[in-house]
Amino acid sequence: MAAKAVEVQDVRVAQQEGVTRLVFELSQASNHRLFPLSNPDRVVLDITGADIKQGIGAKLEGLSSDVLIRVRSAKRESGTRFVLDLKQSVRAKSTVLAANGTYGPRILIELEYGVQKSATVVKSLDSLAGKKRDIVIAVDPGHGGKDPGALGKFKVREKDIVLSIGKELAKNINAIDGFKAVMTRSTDKYLKLRERSLVARSANADLMISIHADAFTKSSARGASVWALSLSGKSSEMGRWLAQQESSADLVGGISLDDKDQLLAEVLLDMSMNSTIQMSLNIGKSVLSEMKGVAHLHKNTVQQAGFVVLKSPDIPSILIETGFVSNATEAKNLSSRTYRVKLARSIAEGVVDYYNQNPPDGTLIAWKKNKQEDYVYVVSKGDTLSEIARRNQITVAKLRQVNSLKNDAIWIGQKLTIPAS
Ligand SMILES: [Zn+2]
Repeated sequence: MAAKAVEVQDVRVAQQEGVTRLVFELSQASNHRLFPLSNPDRVVLDITGADIKQGIGAKLEGLSSDVLIRVRSAKRESGTRFVLDLKQSVRAKSTVLAANGTYGPRILIELEYGVQKSATVVKSLDSLAGKKRDIVIAVDPGHGGKDPGALGKFKVREKDIVLSIGKELAKNINAIDGFKAVMTRSTDKYLKLRERSLVARSANADLMISIHADAFTKSSARGASVWALSLSGKSSEMGRWLAQQESSADLVGGISLDDKDQLLAEVLLDMSMNSTIQMSLNIGKSVLSEMKGVAHLHKNTVQQAGFVVLKSPDIPSILIETGFVSNATEAKNLSSRTYRVKLARSIAEGVVDYYNQNPPDGTLIAWKKNKQEDYVYVVSKGDTLSEIARRNQITVAKLRQVNSLKNDAIWIGQKLTIPAS
């Protein structure tokens, strides 16, 4: 008796920075193999014993992403072959996702690719540092307006303390080349949690930092702490999160959910959530290590809990409890401007340290970190030596020295060596 044919029922594609993912939805589990081909770059997926559901063939041709040109399919004796035509070579891997109550078995294909290195010869300043984006940090002072937050010793109000620390933090971040801060509130106003993450999301924030200074029933409780989201009870939270998505503008890891593609959304949300939390923990660790020089720490490690404000699946988020306003010493510290300035600076340093080590692709910081080879810049109309130096993050003196220039005079078409940083 012939085995019942496996049917590929749908194929979906999603794009995130540096990775394209495809989900092949099957009627039943089947073996597959995946291998790359070059000249031109392709990835081949053979699914054993598979047929394609009618009407899907035409859809496949239309699937594309930053790296995927199209998907072709061909029926073979052993099953169906899918050829993923690519714009460049990728690292491809496949994962089999078992059937669950809602969905059948799926094959997840991930195509990872590096961001292209800058060319050896650069002809316009615009293609240099000027076009690289900043790392965006959303600074979120808790509470505000009609919500005063915790009320502490010496009439200290949480909403005032955290606004002051938040402003100071934003100032420190903005002072560093390659970083930009946006604030969810910079005045004493009330914001819903949802409005807070909306600010972060519309600014394409790389990170959201919520700042609090809460009270505890015991006035002896003290110490600053850093929090990231906990995944316990993940499925229900995720389910709820999905359910709450009422606006079509909402995104999961850069993927619009407005097509109500529940299957893909859940797969992506799961992966996105895991990597986002891991990143949040790492950033939190870096922040803690700087804060410990300034504040008494409640715990030496990043703690996890189900704070609603941390539940952005696509934006790493940390929550900083700067101290307990219910504790006399800390209420006094937090009321001191000098203390708040120091604390904000240490938080900024922790964040900047982390991103200097792990800059996101496409940012100025990544560009600076990756710039390890000399390259040649061809001087064009309107350029000045100082501007070229500035865009390349080196000094004019260094630029003159490397190119044996006696003064700052340059001419159109002149080739300048830009030394690696
Ligand atoms: Zn609070």
